[in-house]
Amino acid sequence: MNTFLNVTNAVDASEILERQRNAFLNTEPPTLTQRKKQLAKLRAAVLEYREELQIAVSEDFGHRSYHETDVMELVGIVQSIDYLSRNLRRFMKPERRHVSLFYQSGKAHVEYQPKGVIGVMAPWNYPISLTLIPLATALASGNRAMLKPSELTPRTSAVIHRMLASIFTIDEVAVVLGGPEVGAEFSALSFDHLIFTGSTPVGRKVMKAASDNLVPLTLELGGKSPVIIARGHVNQRTMTSIAYGKLSNSGQTCVAPDYALVHEDDLAEFIQQYDATVTRFYPKGPDSEDYTSIVNERHYSRLQGLLDHARENGAQVLEMGVKPESAKDRLRTLTPTLVIGAKDDDAVMREEIFGPILPVRTYRDIDEVIDYINERDRPLALYYFGEKDAECKKLLRRTTSGNVGINNTIIHVAQDDLPFGGVGPSGMGAYHGIEGFRSMSHAKGIFDQGRWNFPSLLSAPFGKFMELALTITLGKKKSKS
Ligand code: NAD
Repeated sequence: MNTFLNVTNAVDASEILERQRNAFLNTEPPTLTQRKKQLAKLRAAVLEYREELQIAVSEDFGHRSYHETDVMELVGIVQSIDYLSRNLRRFMKPERRHVSLFYQSGKAHVEYQPKGVIGVMAPWNYPISLTLIPLATALASGNRAMLKPSELTPRTSAVIHRMLASIFTIDEVAVVLGGPEVGAEFSALSFDHLIFTGSTPVGRKVMKAASDNLVPLTLELGGKSPVIIARGHVNQRTMTSIAYGKLSNSGQTCVAPDYALVHEDDLAEFIQQYDATVTRFYPKGPDSEDYTSIVNERHYSRLQGLLDHARENGAQVLEMGVKPESAKDRLRTLTPTLVIGAKDDDAVMREEIFGPILPVRTYRDIDEVIDYINERDRPLALYYFGEKDAECKKLLRRTTSGNVGINNTIIHVAQDDLPFGGVGPSGMGAYHGIEGFRSMSHAKGIFDQGRWNFPSLLSAPFGKFMELALTITLGKKKSKS
């Protein structure tokens, strides 16, 4: 169905954009039924291609269990599609708005109109869901879409390309393949909206490129998300949740807890319980089936470099869980590691880690935690383990981050009705929930004056009705004398 099978340059991409825009302008906006049909097609295709996608991701990473791809990607896509389908009628409904006395009996309402063609740029770490959930949102909002998946997961991108070409025409959904150069040109196209998921440095470049055409943006970026454990709350439940959030996909998760803030009295207990949890999760250590490889050599040596640098600067680097007795079976697996006592200027405390390394910093009171977070970039996510007491409330009141998890990590992303997005250097705008639908729709305000409303009675701009209206609104004119 899709004729552009190998779109690898921006000339082709700008032609596709023109085709999609013409198709958009020359047809009626899709109805509720048509949008639901597109979502249903996408859902069915994901299930049909499930195994191909699992295999492709695992080959791209070196190893990722099919189970992890199911749980961390495919479930999320299917749930997002179902959520959008279920709520679409409500989202699309025009909204009545208030009309002031002055303009009675006119009527005001907002209509959510599709924007047109949405550009979607995706990273490699969850290459299926971070491409297809924005796509589902674009389709639900009545748009056409062009996708630019990551070059670091080429097999997955190829399957996504083939899958979408089998259910959509090029005028509806197109996939553009290529690396940073293609990404740079893609981000300079005059989309009606662009959603970029990726790193903060590339996000800055994308925003610059989009500004030439004043393309509105959603930026889903990265950063260092802290996990704070209240004094006395290191326990099995806490550690299970932290290890789950940190080690799923081997820490290559934007919302993974990046570093831990642990009360100084609890440090020894934290180390011991983290080790026990990692052993329980991965009985064969880094060779366990559910333990994912690091995506490529560059990232693998970057992570080794973070550990070497911290060690050289005097930090303790502690490998957790079962250690492989002989050489590891798997390529590029990095043993779960704690870093204790890293300095604030160590790379591991400055850069987003994006791997199975958890630096632990101790604190004495909640004010110290608040100051530490506020002295740094606003994080994409923040996690708190403890009672929902005054300390917790103060922490939430006094810090600004993307989403928050209380007594859990990462699963806020799976709450379809919550907006998802960062703030400042961790992102701009949000998707998921009604916020996603609205970000890809134009909120058009319409005021219908009607026949007999107040302004229509004004025979002249300064007649007696205008005098009356001014007195009602501004009060009687006060004389200075
Ligand atoms: P990245 O920024 O390197 O790449 C993202 C996309 O941008 C890719 O498609 C890539 O080809 C393209 N690109 C690369 N250079 C470009 C350029 N100069 N101009 C335009 N496009 C360019 O990110 P990544 O390494 O693929 O992903 C990891 C990062 O993404 C981490 O920082 C992570 O926190 C972040 N992330 C954020 C979220 C979120 O929802 N907020 C989700 C996943 C990942």
